[in-house]
Amino acid sequence: MTKLCVSLTREDTDAVLGAMHSLPEQVELVEVRLDAMASCDLEALLSGRDRPVIVTDRSAEHGGESPEPTRRRLGRLRRAAELGAEYLDVDLREVSELGEVPGSTRVIVSHHDFEETPPDLERILRRILCLKPDVAKIAVRARDIADVPAVLELLRGYGGSVPLIALSMGEAGLVSRVLAGKFGAFLTFASFAPGEEAAPGQVPCRDMLELYHFDRMGRETDVYGVVANPVAHSMSPAVHNAAFEAAGLDAVYLRFKVTDPEVFLRDFEPYDLRGLSVTIPHKEPMLRLMDETDELARRVGAVNTVRIDSAGRYGCNTDVAAATASVERAARRAGLLPLSTATVLLVGAGGGARAIAYGLCEKVGRLIIANRTVERAQELAGELGVEHCGLDRMTEYTPDIIINGTSVGMWPEVDRSPVPAEMLRDGMVVFDAVYNPSRTRLLEEAERAGAETASGVEWFVGQAAAQFELWTGRPAPREAMRAALTAGLKVDTGGESD
Ligand code: NAP
Repeated sequence: MTKLCVSLTREDTDAVLGAMHSLPEQVELVEVRLDAMASCDLEALLSGRDRPVIVTDRSAEHGGESPEPTRRRLGRLRRAAELGAEYLDVDLREVSELGEVPGSTRVIVSHHDFEETPPDLERILRRILCLKPDVAKIAVRARDIADVPAVLELLRGYGGSVPLIALSMGEAGLVSRVLAGKFGAFLTFASFAPGEEAAPGQVPCRDMLELYHFDRMGRETDVYGVVANPVAHSMSPAVHNAAFEAAGLDAVYLRFKVTDPEVFLRDFEPYDLRGLSVTIPHKEPMLRLMDETDELARRVGAVNTVRIDSAGRYGCNTDVAAATASVERAARRAGLLPLSTATVLLVGAGGGARAIAYGLCEKVGRLIIANRTVERAQELAGELGVEHCGLDRMTEYTPDIIINGTSVGMWPEVDRSPVPAEMLRDGMVVFDAVYNPSRTRLLEEAERAGAETASGVEWFVGQAAAQFELWTGRPAPREAMRAALTAGLKVDTGGESD
């Protein structure tokens, strides 16, 4: 089982021990970065440790912060071994100068490349193994997710008796740090907390355990994820990992920051990739990469969900039906059904508004698309055969349903609303696609006016639940998904979203 190791970069002995003692028990190892400490009492540190440690003292040349000459740094490491440190991490180029290591301390011989993923990882591994390490370690920078498979292959294809650590550094390399658990790495490194990364791309220890459930990952774990660029703020990992957890499934859901979806699919399908959520900017390009698509995805021209199995890649669109269902539920609560008699004003003509418009155009009596850039409204309205206008002409209509499909009102600009308050009235339905915050200014003003409201949270959970059901064939644990989304929004926005 791959160990979870937290790297500590605190300034002195007390701070390191304090942090170490607060770590959860699933953290089996702690890396103490002597080079990051302003002062260190090695004896106190090692006698005060509550779990096995890796002691590292790295020079700037090898990605650390120590200004000390090699001889002094290696001397400190030997002293750590005399005091019983379980592991030392020594760079491949310095290990010959380390000499005899006292006691039962084991030596990790490491190679770091902070610039790139070199093409000859196997040759580097052979060089390390020639030095008879107790553990071999290769950490290289992934400039793009396309660099990560080389590292995963190294792990997957490795059959040696010396334990191996292999990982990709940088944001694009995040997946290698999590999937290390699937491919049997000796350990993976995590940071103590956000902002305390000892190396680029380290995932906070809390996320490793509570988001990715790293301690339960194994060779059979199925892999899912969101394909986007940028992807760092996606709420989908929180929602889908919570769903897998609630359903008791052996699966993990990752963030894939992808530049080329075709290369990504080719490279990652061999790693038990079972399903993907797809978002900006890949929804349209993904369509042509599928073996089969549903009719709706073809009509909208966008795939937001991919299922991968022995029959190939199946792409569909769960955005459309989930948005329509949110509007229908709110209309039912407001006594506005059937929709065929309703006039709907949809504000926005971007990707989200497009899904809403495709879902509603044949169900409602009249649909008007209003957008800041009138040409975009005109284009979308033209595709669907509905009306359009600029934002300045919205007040000329008296809609039964108003939908915000723009990003206006989204965190952090929560004081804004795309709809003049005088358009909101008792008995109408107001739906906001924005889910962060879940209660936007528009929805608050609509509630004050007596309107029935539906938030983007409902839509988000609806489309994610449909993805879960397509992937697993089981009913989605919607409450767990909703709770994960709202909890995640509170964390991301400092609690101001609800
Ligand atoms: P998008 O494709 O970038 O489109 C953005 C839309 O907002 C365009 O219509 C744009 O008008 C308009 N807009 C942006 N800034 C504006 C401003 N200052 N004043 C007036 N209009 C403005 O984005 P998207 O993917 O459609 O997302 C839009 C919103 O929907 C986001 O808040 C997103 O989180 C939400 N959404 C939610 C879900 C869900 O599941 N709940 C799903 C999809 C989207 P122009 O055309 O003039 O630029």
